[in-house]
Amino acid sequence: MDNPWQIAQKQFDVTAEMIGLEDWLRRLLREPKKVIVVSVPVRMDNGNVKVFEGYRVQHSTARGPAKGGIRYHPDANLDEVKALSMWMTWKCAVVDIPFGGGKGGIRCDFKSMSHGELERMTRRYTLEIAGIIGPTKDIPAPDVGTDSQIMAWIMDTYSAVTGNYIPAVVTGKPLQIGGSEGRKEATGKGVYFTILSYFKHKKQSIKGKKVVIQGFGNAGKYAALLLEKDGFTIIGISDSTGAIYNPKGIKINKLIETKERTKSVVDYKDAEKISGSGIFEIETDVLIPAALESVINVENADKIHAKVICEAANGPVTTEADSILKDRKITVIPDILANAGGVIVSYFEWVQNLQGYYWTKEEVDTRLKFLMEKAFNKVIHTAEERNVSLRTAALMIAVDRVALATKLRGIYS
Ligand code: GLU
Repeated sequence: MDNPWQIAQKQFDVTAEMIGLEDWLRRLLREPKKVIVVSVPVRMDNGNVKVFEGYRVQHSTARGPAKGGIRYHPDANLDEVKALSMWMTWKCAVVDIPFGGGKGGIRCDFKSMSHGELERMTRRYTLEIAGIIGPTKDIPAPDVGTDSQIMAWIMDTYSAVTGNYIPAVVTGKPLQIGGSEGRKEATGKGVYFTILSYFKHKKQSIKGKKVVIQGFGNAGKYAALLLEKDGFTIIGISDSTGAIYNPKGIKINKLIETKERTKSVVDYKDAEKISGSGIFEIETDVLIPAALESVINVENADKIHAKVICEAANGPVTTEADSILKDRKITVIPDILANAGGVIVSYFEWVQNLQGYYWTKEEVDTRLKFLMEKAFNKVIHTAEERNVSLRTAALMIAVDRVALATKLRGIYS
């Protein structure tokens, strides 16, 4: 079972059973509140019109407006977006920020599109979803394949359509037009705080601990930089073009410079090239999947030689793999906790936009650390108290909070 929506629903069903959730809440929360699928016609540079399929799903708005990124990817599809939107609901709840969960996407080969094509597609998509997004309804953000420039186009199109300057409609914007200090590195920084909290809890020193990272996008890159600075040794890294391995450590700044130049991590000189799938088999203390869903599955869960897996990506471990890893005593720090740094700083960006008052990077970082550590401690204590995995503990806390909000508000939420 590698379909993320089936995985998300299965996780929910198991959690609902564990916390004894009422039947009507099970039926309500196992489906999204709102789903829209839109056609996005775009005039391409060669003069032809291409029609892309776009999505926006709002899973829950019980605790606040829907919140979650927009993904551009050739494999984006409705089931994936539904799963990601449900995970956003749990993520915002487990770190206790006042949002529900949403997600969007466009099925497109974004890497082959020009700047102009991407702009026209983004603006046309924004127009289609303009009626259901907004600072008090649903607030998009970057995800795989989207960045601050794309958020700027969404903000601009939405502001033009509504006739008002509305920066709080979207987060992850460039600093110059209402973005927040620290948003760019927030997901990676959250992953880093989580790993530090984990070893602190285990009373283990972090010096020389080995780390392998699958995926070298925004989250993987900043996590790598921060972990390296603290004395972790990053021994393996992959991206969509392949993987590299050096037991003595990969120099992250040098790798960033190589990747910027050649678009690939495999051009890094001081490491052995290994296969993309080989990245999962390296013996390491920490493995960080930081790309897409379902990459750790029945095929490779037996071959993993990590002590801890920290999920920087959303949904990287399938349900079957989760139980194999549990049997093998490999700890998994779940996505909804580990990668929540991004949406936490998105929350700070939204607050700053609504107030028109901006914080320093130090203020952002201190508040991010506080919320991440608080959530981590709550999850680890629940897991120990109830003798369940960290994923189950995080889901139990999250589903419980969302269910309570839904009960308090009633069936219109
Ligand atoms: N796409 C990111 C996530 O999956 C960030 C979402 C947000 O900032 O709203 O958590």
